[in-house]
Amino acid sequence: MAENMQHSGMAGMANGAHPAPTPSTPSTPSTQPMAPARPAPDVMTKCPNCREIIVTKELEKNLRVCPRCGHHFRLTADERIALVLDEGSFQEMSADLMTEDPLHFVSRSKPYPTYAAEYRAETGLNEGVVYGRGAIEGLPLVLVVMDFRFIGGSMGTVVGEKITRAIELAAKERIPLVVCSASGGARMQEGALSLMQMAKTSAALARLAEAGVPYISVLTDPTTGGVAASFAFLGDVMLAEPGALIGFAGPRVIEQAIHQRLPKDTNTSEFLLAHGMIDGITHRRELRSTLARLLRLYQQAATLA
Ligand SMILES: [Zn+2]
Repeated sequence: MAENMQHSGMAGMANGAHPAPTPSTPSTPSTQPMAPARPAPDVMTKCPNCREIIVTKELEKNLRVCPRCGHHFRLTADERIALVLDEGSFQEMSADLMTEDPLHFVSRSKPYPTYAAEYRAETGLNEGVVYGRGAIEGLPLVLVVMDFRFIGGSMGTVVGEKITRAIELAAKERIPLVVCSASGGARMQEGALSLMQMAKTSAALARLAEAGVPYISVLTDPTTGGVAASFAFLGDVMLAEPGALIGFAGPRVIEQAIHQRLPKDTNTSEFLLAHGMIDGITHRRELRSTLARLLRLYQQAATLA
């Protein structure tokens, strides 16, 4: 099955699916300004953790996990869906929803609609989240996947609306909800309307809980800000990928606020697990099988009830 996943879903993403610069290869100031020998990002990829230079195709085959140190590179929504779901089972919903510009916001000297249009062209997505019906090992679920490439996976009104629709679909049809988060938080360009999505998604999840339908939250790198402070942390089961940056505020902001140095690994999956904030850390190779096991448990419980 794992082999299948690698070849069916992940193969098509080798080129173009991760536009330069890959989010997980942030500016590394260690190199000189000009680097003519630097490998092209679509052929070779440098691991930001161990600095290993990896043939990108090998990285794709390894589910975008560094073969040397296990660093989990970020996935696009398409890659995540291919990784998790049965092949061909995904039925995307509300794909045509696009953001409005309620505040007439101008960002980086560009009107917000222009800015958003550029991200649409770059990512091939209409927004920072994708959801729909799907199946894992034949078990039905509603899957929500955020894509960090689209304005940092930020949650504006459309992201909030799509996530709420997904939750309501799960409640109505009584099928489990799985949300894979990857977000920098609320979308500044939509101001307070973005913040309202925190309440909206949380309220919908409360109704899902009342309906007795399970919600599995998968935290991936990064899950921060208003997303961490709302639906991402409300899962009945909380999973995270290894080494993910997770938390409301980043370590530097916290240090500035409390005037103390933080432990080295604060805001990582491992730190959260050690402190009881999440239930488990799941290697990407085992994510699909772990979700299948959880869905099967629910199905058995639902049958007995
Ligand atoms: Zn590495």
